[in-house]
Amino acid sequence: MAVVVNHDVCEGIGECIEVCPVEALALVDSKAVVDADLCIDCLACIPACPVEAITEG
Ligand code: SF4
Repeated sequence: MAVVVNHDVCEGIGECIEVCPVEALALVDSKAVVDADLCIDCLACIPACPVEAITEG
């Protein structure tokens, strides 16, 4: 499982990337993308997102 980024909401701010402990998030075309193989479901990125674009998978 991994978190889900709603690309209709994501503004590419990058706060989620800063808090992810395993570098599972990256910006691709100004949208956050999750690498599900790396994500450990710590959920730190959910409250870090100022536009609430990330939800639990
Ligand atoms: S849930 Fe944790 S490990 Fe997964 S993308 Fe978010 S911050 Fe990274």
